[in-house]
Parts: sequence; structure tokens; C-alpha cells
Amino acid sequence: MRYVSTRGQTPPESFQDAVLTGLAPDGGLLVPETIPDVSDRLEAWRTLSFQELALEIISLFCDDIPRTDLKQLIDRAYAGFDHPDVTPLVTVGERQVLELWHGPTLAFKDVALQLLGHLFDYILSARGQSLNILGATSGDTGSAAIAGVRGHHNIHIFIMFPRGRTSHVQELQMTTVPDANVHALSIDGSFDDCQALLKSTFGDLELKQTMRLGAVNSVNWARVMAQIVYYFHAGLRHRDPVSFAVPTGNFGDIFAGWLAARMGLPVKRLILATNENDILSVFFNTGIYRRGPVHHTISPSMDIQVASNFERYLYYSCGEEPERLRTLMAEFAKSGEIRSEPGDSGVIDPLIDARAEDTESTLHMIRETWQRHHYLLDPHTAVGVAAAEAVAPGEPVICLATAHPAKFPDAVKAAIGEDLAHHPAVDALEGKPVRSVELPADLAAVKAFIETHGIR
Ligand SMILES: *Cc1c(COP(=O)(O)O)cnc(C)c1O
Repeated sequence: MRYVSTRGQTPPESFQDAVLTGLAPDGGLLVPETIPDVSDRLEAWRTLSFQELALEIISLFCDDIPRTDLKQLIDRAYAGFDHPDVTPLVTVGERQVLELWHGPTLAFKDVALQLLGHLFDYILSARGQSLNILGATSGDTGSAAIAGVRGHHNIHIFIMFPRGRTSHVQELQMTTVPDANVHALSIDGSFDDCQALLKSTFGDLELKQTMRLGAVNSVNWARVMAQIVYYFHAGLRHRDPVSFAVPTGNFGDIFAGWLAARMGLPVKRLILATNENDILSVFFNTGIYRRGPVHHTISPSMDIQVASNFERYLYYSCGEEPERLRTLMAEFAKSGEIRSEPGDSGVIDPLIDARAEDTESTLHMIRETWQRHHYLLDPHTAVGVAAAEAVAPGEPVICLATAHPAKFPDAVKAAIGEDLAHHPAVDALEGKPVRSVELPADLAAVKAFIETHGIR
């Protein structure tokens, strides 16, 4: 399988190159040349374990790693999950909840980033190369990226976070990791400062080359690919087409579900749920995609305006024509807006039902689910469940649980009035030695640190 850019101005790449590249050189996102059709294999796949199914699905997208090696990478990536099903499906009242948070940092990003860490290690070892990964985080991505590459000898990772502005748990998850290849950079500034630093560091082409800088951003194809697996694993537990409710920020998780449906998984609908940052739910209801100000909410991992993976979706809705996509993206860069006409069915996408939920309904859903079923939702998951209740009352819906509630204890306390959200892995962080480097929000300082401490 080869990978092409959504903007169509770079030559196709192999899977291994696509994993290392992240973003295509022409600024586009890499997508597989074709989407495989697996409809005739569904029966055979119903009884597979998560790891077995992952091997079948990932093999379709990755033909330059021998199957036995790929199997090992998958087994290692998911060995650190604390449930034998990796992503178990549990029943909560009339809903099913797909718990995606059994990995080391208790958020769904582990499903992809644990695999990505092993893929990086494998590809770099084979090529005798090393990589310095640089990232900026407001929370979940940084800790999951660190957990994905800690201890890998050919990678160093530098994660910038705004000092004092991530949650306590998220900061501890980044600063209590003892491995020497992990550098948590506590930046004296805001998340925007961190992102600006990230951009200007990558803009320094000399540094980028001499230090072999790489990224773990949410546009890496391997992250989307790894997430397709749990849609099949959960969906194949059902005989009839099933619906999924997906709390959404960067359109990464739900895009994996959209691809699973394109590949042949019977999906009734995808319920796209946003918080007050509703750019995506507005788009799927009106056809207008318009940039707005970021609202800070109790589901902070979805406090995103421009969804980085959305370009992949637009590419397919433009009939896989890069020229049309380029026109749209240029329009968006200029006016901050894209307009799309409804299709023949009268809606933007017959598969996607989109809804925004506010803080009040999120807190209400956490409280009600606890009172009725004694099950604790984290605030991101609660956004999805609330949307499922509104869009598909009484229907069977698989609600994706993207984080364990112990990562967001304040929201749970605000909803229920009691400090109920605990997890041994979070409690164990307290009192561990912490290690971070305080740096000013200054390009020269970040650059000097990477040059001194990075792997060469
Ligand atoms: C990242 C994240 C999301 C949003 O996922 P996207 O792929 O960006 O849509 C939702 N919930 C949690 C807990 C997250 O960490």
C-alpha cells in the first residue's frame, strides 16, 4: 500500500516513510492510495482477539513490514493494557460503553501511540537512524506520546507544556517518567506559546535536519490506522448495523470510524459529539466550516477549533481530487470558512449525525449515569453519551469512552459532589519524584536544550 498526499503534490510514499514523515512535504495529509474492502471477511473476523484483528487490519495498510514482525510489534504495543480485551465493551443500562482507556495514561490516545512508539523503534532500528521527537501539549497527547516512546534507545522525546496550566494529573504523568530519553519541558507561557515555539523550531530547517526532528501530532496516518481496529472489534460483536457515539476534537477518532464503515463494517450511524467548541457539529448540520474562538471547557482535550484530521475527510468528500481540495484549503486560509452543499440525500453526510453538548448537559449526564447505573463517565465520554441520548434515544449505541474519570476528578466532583474518581495508576503518581526542565518561552533556549540533550 502506498500513501498519497491529500494535496497531490508529493510522490507516493511507502508505509514506513509515511509513519516517519507525519505531515506530507506539500503540507497535505497522507492517505492510503485505496481503501481496502473487507466485507467478505467479517464473518471470519468475528471471533478474533483484539491483537489478532489488529494484525489482520494493519496488514492491509502496511505491506513493508513482514507479518511476523508486525505481530510482535502489535503484541508488545498492547501488552501494557490492563484488560485482556484491550478495549472492552461494557453494558451500562441500555447503552454499551467501549472503554478505550486501559492503556498506561488512561486515555484512548494510548491505543495509537503505544503502537506508534514500537513502529518508530522498529523502522529506525532497521535503518540505523535516530529521532528527536518534539511536541507541544495541553494535556493528554503529551503524556500518551511520552508513554509510547519511553525507554526506546533510538528516540528522545521533548514535550513542551504550559507551566501550571495543565491539570495536576496530566503534569504528573509527564514529569514522573524516569527514563533518560524523556524530557518534559515546563514552559513559562501559555499553550499558544508552546505551539508557536513548536512551529518555529520546526521552521528552523537546519536544526530539523541536524537533529532529525520528528513529530507525534494527530495527523500521523498510523494513529488513524490503529484506531480503526476497535471499531471493528466492537462492531463485530453485533449482528446488525450498529451506531457509535464519538466525542470529537481533532476528528481523528471519528475519522477512523468513518473509514471502518467505508471498509465494509456495517455502521448505522456515527454520532459526532462536540463540546461548546462546535465547529464540526455546525459543519455537519449546515455545511459551513468556520473558524471561531476556543472555549475552555470541562472536556479540555476537545477544546479545539480547527480539526487537524478534517482535511482527510474533505479529501474524500471532494471525490479524492487534490485540486478541488487545494482550492477549498486555500479558501479556508483566506476567509476562515469553507462551504459545502448537502448531497442527494439532503444532508452533508448520511453516516454522520452531529451534536454539540454544553457543560450543563455534560455534568447532568455524569450525574445521571452514576445515579442510575453506578458507572462513572469522564467528561469527554459524557459529551458523547449525552449526544447519543439526544440523537438516538432508546437505540443501541456503542459510546466510546475516551478517558478514565480519574484523569478529570474535578469535573466528576462538580457533577456528583463527591470525590469519586480514582484509579490506582493515578493515585500512585502522588509522591513520585518529578523531573522537568523549566525554560522561558524562547526559541533560542528550546533549541539549545534540544541540541545539548538530543540524540545524534
Ligand atoms: C484527544 C481526546 C479526544 C478527542 O479525540 P480526537 O481524535 O481529537 O477527536 C477526546 N477525548 C479525550 C479524553 C482525548 O484525549
